[in-house]
Amino acid sequence: MYVPIEHPLNPALGVTAMAPAVPADEAERIRALLRYEILDTPSEASFDHLTRLAATIIGVPIALVSLVDTDRQWFKSKFGLGVDETGRDISFCGHSILQEAPFVVPDAILDDRFADNPLVTGEPGIRFYAGAPLRTPDGYRLGTLCVIDTEPRNGLTEFESNALVALASLVVDEMELHRAERILATQQGDLNRYYEVMGASTDFMGLASPDGKIIGINPAGRRMVGLGDNEDVSTLTIGSLHPVRIHDMVFTEAIPTAMQKGSWRGTSALLSSEGHEVPVDQVVLCHRDEDGKISFLSTISRDISDRSEVDRLRDVEVLKDEFISTVSHELRTPLTSIIASLGLLADGVIGPLDAQVQEVVNIALINSERLVHLVDDILDYERMEISSFELKLAMVSAAGLVDSAIMAVDGTATERNIQIVGTTEAADDVMVECDPHRVIQMLINLLGNAIKFSPHSSTISVQVELFSDNTVCFSVTDQGHGIEEEMLPKLFDPFWQADSSASRSVGGSGLGLAISRRIAEQHDGRIEVTSKRGAGSTFSVILPLRQS
Ligand code: ADP
Repeated sequence: MYVPIEHPLNPALGVTAMAPAVPADEAERIRALLRYEILDTPSEASFDHLTRLAATIIGVPIALVSLVDTDRQWFKSKFGLGVDETGRDISFCGHSILQEAPFVVPDAILDDRFADNPLVTGEPGIRFYAGAPLRTPDGYRLGTLCVIDTEPRNGLTEFESNALVALASLVVDEMELHRAERILATQQGDLNRYYEVMGASTDFMGLASPDGKIIGINPAGRRMVGLGDNEDVSTLTIGSLHPVRIHDMVFTEAIPTAMQKGSWRGTSALLSSEGHEVPVDQVVLCHRDEDGKISFLSTISRDISDRSEVDRLRDVEVLKDEFISTVSHELRTPLTSIIASLGLLADGVIGPLDAQVQEVVNIALINSERLVHLVDDILDYERMEISSFELKLAMVSAAGLVDSAIMAVDGTATERNIQIVGTTEAADDVMVECDPHRVIQMLINLLGNAIKFSPHSSTISVQVELFSDNTVCFSVTDQGHGIEEEMLPKLFDPFWQADSSASRSVGGSGLGLAISRRIAEQHDGRIEVTSKRGAGSTFSVILPLRQS
């Protein structure tokens, strides 16, 4: 349908050229035109070649790539014409885009629709016009490739018509190519920005095309999967980065979910350079272009090997906890009741025992007590190995701690006629923030060892000193046989005993010093020893006065 309108360029002329009708899909058509971002761009050789070719093949002086905008036609390429655009209402191309086949006007002067058209009556003096629509792959006719002559013609031969249609489709191909390049350039820009931002990241970051080909991997990602910084990744696929074991999950869950919902997150694994699995926390994102078509997939994968290690350790701790409660319940509890029963027997509470039985019961009692101490030490040590070992802090007097420890070992010392001399006067007023129960346990260990490894009727001295760096030092010095110098570093290892046969004769588990060191360290302190074979030993515990 053609509507006669007044000539817009010069209403005074009262021209009644026929303006082209507006297509039914005009809004979508304009949107489609805009997505090519071609309007008002500079001329380009690729389009100019096509107009020149069209003009040459058909033998006309003018050929145009004309795009029909809302109220104008704008020429991307104009062979043989000076102007860039004209009003849509006087355009021939506005008519051309209304039909699929080429639109041909053999002589404009003889055509009612164009006889008055200023492009016919004035410059460029159109007589012959033929335009093939520029049809996008999704069916919108955005403009034409048209040829114009200032002489009338008999229309187009079949060959000319076919050539014009073919060249028009080449123009659309060219437009599509430009658009793809632009999108790619934007993506490349995104990619560069992405790398820029994530270049310093320790996470694996990768991009892949929708069909799974790798587009790029950031430096940390390359290291993770064993690729050099400049190694070509374009031959790789998503699958090649993952262990076969999880391909199913990647291709049936992760990628489809990302494509459907935009993103997927879960645990997965990458294949390290050595062929090991690297457990990762992975996010897959699906990126779409403005038409909603998937343009690429991106992924961020964080190595969680350490986290798995933590989980593993946590499992070990749970097992240890279970071990401790099992041992306490199944071993220690019956042992203490055996000791109680043996005690009753040994003390003659149940009845008098003959000398031989008495001796056996006494040995059984001593061994059971030793066993229960060993179990206690093992349980104690295991408990301390668990990170949850916490101090119950209190502000206590250093001298008080020493007194309590001495009191606890007094009986054993007296049995062996050993005198314990405490020189705590200097530390009478010193207050220490610590777990008193644990510190006393540590001092009892040191005093116990000193008693065990000292000769009869010797002296043990306990000293408390205040150091200038706000630490307090408790030291226990004996006159025992001392320790070989090369043995000193091993002393604090669990279950280590300098001379197991000698130690067995005096008893012990080899855990006392390991436990003591753990207690000192838990207080941010340390334990030290100086000793010489045959010249006695000094064990010192240095603790900060205040806990941080
Ligand atoms: P134990 O229960 O065997 O005493 P410890 O860890 O307390 O375990 O001590 C480990 C070893 O260190 C002892 O077996 C002993 O060989 C040596 N040791 C510890 N204290 C002394 C000391 N005061 N004099 C000589 N040797 C000692």
